[in-house]
Amino acid sequence: MRVLLIGPPGAGKGTQAARIAEHFDLGNIATGALLREQVANGTELGKVAREYMDRGDLVPDDIVIEMARDRMVQASEAGGYVLDGYPRTLAQAEAAYRWAVAKGIPFDLTLYFEIEEEELLARLAGRAREEHRSDDTEETVRHRLEVFAAQTRPLVDYYQRRRILVRINAVGPIDAISEQIFATLHWHKARAMAAGVNRPEWALDPPGSS
Ligand code: AMP
Repeated sequence: MRVLLIGPPGAGKGTQAARIAEHFDLGNIATGALLREQVANGTELGKVAREYMDRGDLVPDDIVIEMARDRMVQASEAGGYVLDGYPRTLAQAEAAYRWAVAKGIPFDLTLYFEIEEEELLARLAGRAREEHRSDDTEETVRHRLEVFAAQTRPLVDYYQRRRILVRINAVGPIDAISEQIFATLHWHKARAMAAGVNRPEWALDPPGSS
């Protein structure tokens, strides 16, 4: 199973990605964490990426697209992955789609974490205190939310048109959100198996939706 997570910063993607990976035995690929690793190791890529990250801007598409590919191939061979924070622009989504289809490993499902901005600002302020992330100051957080709205939210329509989008209510207890996600993914898996395919070309109505 190959699953993408889309949502604004602070929506809980990282927490849920770790749980999904464990529950379904999938690789966990987080482009933000991979980039922070490059920054910490002082690599050339890290030096370039850091400027963008500290401002709360997105790192250029070509850097991220290249970085994600190897991991996606490795994880696909090992049974699938949950992808947290990629694609984040339409250009990345198109590149990832064309590449994955050509490789015969198209995405199965995109989970969109829906949450109000007010809730996000409160959460991100808490995370800034706990994790001391250099991109979690209030000003940068606001900017990252703007970047999300302008560059990443259009992916919701994009994946809806591809009929692989499921909306997740990302407000509430963490366990309840995980349950919602697990139910959706189990349902998806069962349906894919019943259909005898692993390429979902059908409309997806997750459990509980009408
Ligand atoms: P995250 O940990 O997912 O919030 O990502 C932290 C930062 O890494 C983002 O604010 C971006 O600067 C950068 N980043 C992570 N993923 C991507 C991506 N797919 N495209 C561009 N920049 C990214």
